[in-house]
Amino acid sequence: MTPTAARRTLFTPPVPASPFPYHPGSLLSVTDLTVEGVSRLLARATELENHDPLLRDHILAKRRVALLFYESSTRTRTSFELASKALGADTTLISSLSSSIEKGESLKDTGLTLRALGAEAIILRHNSSGAPWLLEEATRLPVINAGDGMHEHPTQALLDLRTILAHLDPRTKTCHPELSNDRHPERSHPAARDGAVEGPAFSNFREITSETLAGVTITITGDILHSRVARSNMLLLPRLGARVLLCGPKELLPQQAAGAGPGIEIERDFDAALRQSQIVMMLRIQAERLAGLQLDLDEYKAAYQLTGQRLAAHAPAAVVLHPGPIIRGLEITAGVADGPQSAILEQVTNGVAIRMAVVERALLAGGNGAPADRPSSVEPQQGGLA
Ligand code: ASP
Repeated sequence: MTPTAARRTLFTPPVPASPFPYHPGSLLSVTDLTVEGVSRLLARATELENHDPLLRDHILAKRRVALLFYESSTRTRTSFELASKALGADTTLISSLSSSIEKGESLKDTGLTLRALGAEAIILRHNSSGAPWLLEEATRLPVINAGDGMHEHPTQALLDLRTILAHLDPRTKTCHPELSNDRHPERSHPAARDGAVEGPAFSNFREITSETLAGVTITITGDILHSRVARSNMLLLPRLGARVLLCGPKELLPQQAAGAGPGIEIERDFDAALRQSQIVMMLRIQAERLAGLQLDLDEYKAAYQLTGQRLAAHAPAAVVLHPGPIIRGLEITAGVADGPQSAILEQVTNGVAIRMAVVERALLAGGNGAPADRPSSVEPQQGGLA
């Protein structure tokens, strides 16, 4: 490991308390949400998904949403854009390669410019951890964190949760690849066919509680150190009762991660982790953040690649997740990514519903009495936009 990599710690320092109350519509971290808030957001995502599209696009008609992306993105950017448009909002995309950011404009000035142009909410992806807090402080607009450096990706964790719930049999508290009965009726699980589960399983979890995932073990495997997806999931899933196993080599998974919180353990033997898991979340090696760290990819693949053989031997009934982009042949084989246990494209689809609920919350929280869903330690700002 290089000195740079060795100095890095798994957990970025806590973001300093903002000198002003956060905007109630912002979603900077999954810890901004209470369990009830998570529950409401997921329920609202389902309502919005099932809403008549012609009526749905009045909800945020002509409201202005800016997507400010300093890093490349396919799924997150497109789904935020489709979600905002599905509610009738006008969207504009500012990417670091085609704007004055390239000329050296700061995040603060870019944010103030967007506000002056009429943006009412900003969806930010940035390569620096903590950037969304700075943007919120500078603009006082609702800011949605679409991924900040190695820190957090809250909407990814919410859509992962929605995908997990879609595969969770509420009677037995076990997950099944074939239980996502709405999208694959031909693969439907007996619990769905016999009427015990009606429609998508997540509709059976209208009330998500701290017990909803009790008994469910989720393994997250790969580049945990650099993964904002892992971090947001580690901050969310144990609060709902899940046991989270982290798996990877020490270069990508420092031992301190075991102390990250209750419900989080390290299991370096991937096969042993698979044997205990109902959900396996695979992560890409974040080449752009390795900063000189050298990995022997053949060794890595031998120990941590999710192959069809490994899955069949150790977790034949587990649901496979991956936030994307997948690197076929590295952390996961093409056969597994495209196989019957994969819910990877369902995650992508779930991103639109979740982001509709999050964008609606950003623009309506504080403005129409919608609950802010913040933990009680943070006082919501009254009166909407500053
Ligand atoms: N798309 C995810 C993210 O933006 C995961 C990844 O890039 O590997 O964090």
